[in-house]
Amino acid sequence: MPETIQAIRGMNDVLPADSGPWQLLERVARETFAEYGYREIRLPILERTDLFKRSIGEMTDIVEKEMYTFEDRGGESVTLRPEATAGIVRAAIANGLLHNQRQKIWCSGPMFRYERPQKGRYRQFHQVDAEALGFPGPDVDAELIMMSARIWRRLGLEGLTLNLNSLGTPESRRGYRETLVAYFRGHAPTLDEDSRRRLDGNPLRILDSKNPAMREVIAGAPLITDHLDPESASHFAGLRSRLDAAGIGYVVNPRLVRGLDYYSRTVFEWVTMDLGSQDAVCSGGRYDGLVAQLGGDSVPAIGWALGEERIVELLRLQGLAGDETVADVYLVLGGAAAEAAGMQVAEQLRDALPGVRIETNCGGGSFKSQLKRADRSGAYCAVILGEEEFSRGVAGLKPLRDEQGQAEVAIADLATELSRRVVGRARG
Ligand code: ATP
Ligand code: MG
Repeated sequence: MPETIQAIRGMNDVLPADSGPWQLLERVARETFAEYGYREIRLPILERTDLFKRSIGEMTDIVEKEMYTFEDRGGESVTLRPEATAGIVRAAIANGLLHNQRQKIWCSGPMFRYERPQKGRYRQFHQVDAEALGFPGPDVDAELIMMSARIWRRLGLEGLTLNLNSLGTPESRRGYRETLVAYFRGHAPTLDEDSRRRLDGNPLRILDSKNPAMREVIAGAPLITDHLDPESASHFAGLRSRLDAAGIGYVVNPRLVRGLDYYSRTVFEWVTMDLGSQDAVCSGGRYDGLVAQLGGDSVPAIGWALGEERIVELLRLQGLAGDETVADVYLVLGGAAAEAAGMQVAEQLRDALPGVRIETNCGGGSFKSQLKRADRSGAYCAVILGEEEFSRGVAGLKPLRDEQGQAEVAIADLATELSRRVVGRARG
């Protein structure tokens, strides 16, 4: 017996029985984006390694230790994308999408990070991503956040909290950075190894530390919100007043700095109490310097990404995972003539009833076993085409979810009768 082959650690199969909430999330996101005028962009999963080094930053967790980087057969260093923004900016520059134009776009798909796999943290995971390029904000900042809030509302998700902060501009951050470094140097003995290393390269990232031993020293650190330049402060106020007007609650969290180097001004994160320590379900921020940093014009931009695995888990926990049935109508076929005609009858029903899920029994079996399959399919109705009925041009219509008895219906009237019984009930 050959050995079975295992999947790679941290990379999950989404099985047919589990794909419902994924489809629900992706459908709701797609519809919401369309309602706001955001168009889809589809990009390669593999990019040159330099793209991520230059955008995400050398001193970040992602670039330091999480990238799937390898040499291809031509000796070029390539990396499986750990996030979407860098690729979007590369594509926007390369295709001239920002020449006298602005872009509102979204994309979705797998991302790859070599992290320690645990609940809510995987090596291949999926994001839905929204970006607005060419808009200085804060109107578009508010719009992007409203769009995410609408997705939660549409899904029926509860218990999400929006954390909000402003990082100012790179210039104003420089002043804050010095204050921060001075503070942490004064507390050097309490810093863990990671933080000591970051003190020179990326001191703001210390605020992002998840080490409980660091909590106290971080709580005492000076706040970035006290060091904003006037324009960033008014940008932040403009965003807050728009969110207030839209009735979107938020918590200003001056310690929210986000893991990537390229953010400026607005940063935010939607968090939940329901998922343990993997509590961020959607994060984003403004990256006004990135397009220029990657060789494009100086174009302001902002975006967010939601983690599909974490949202899907929340949908499950909150009983919102949706319909798990596969059929609305199940065709039970008895005898050679009915079997031969059954597929045709099903095709005609599908023509007449678009959107209604019709499963035809394949592979024969007794009436009893076919009816069992019909029941398991979740169908509301079984259509029974037996030898004798078929010869008379009729079918049995057997309700499977209520107490009504079986009825006899002319095959020619099946569509009308089914539409009366099933349409409207199907998929809630
Ligand atoms: P975290 O703090 O949980 O590591 P992050 O700041 O690294 O998150 P982002 O890079 O902002 O996350 O990605 C956006 C979203 O993608 C996160 O809010 C989260 O929901 C999801 N996400 C990030 N990394 C993973 C992962 N390894 N597995 C599953 N989901 C992830
Ligand atoms: Mg991370």
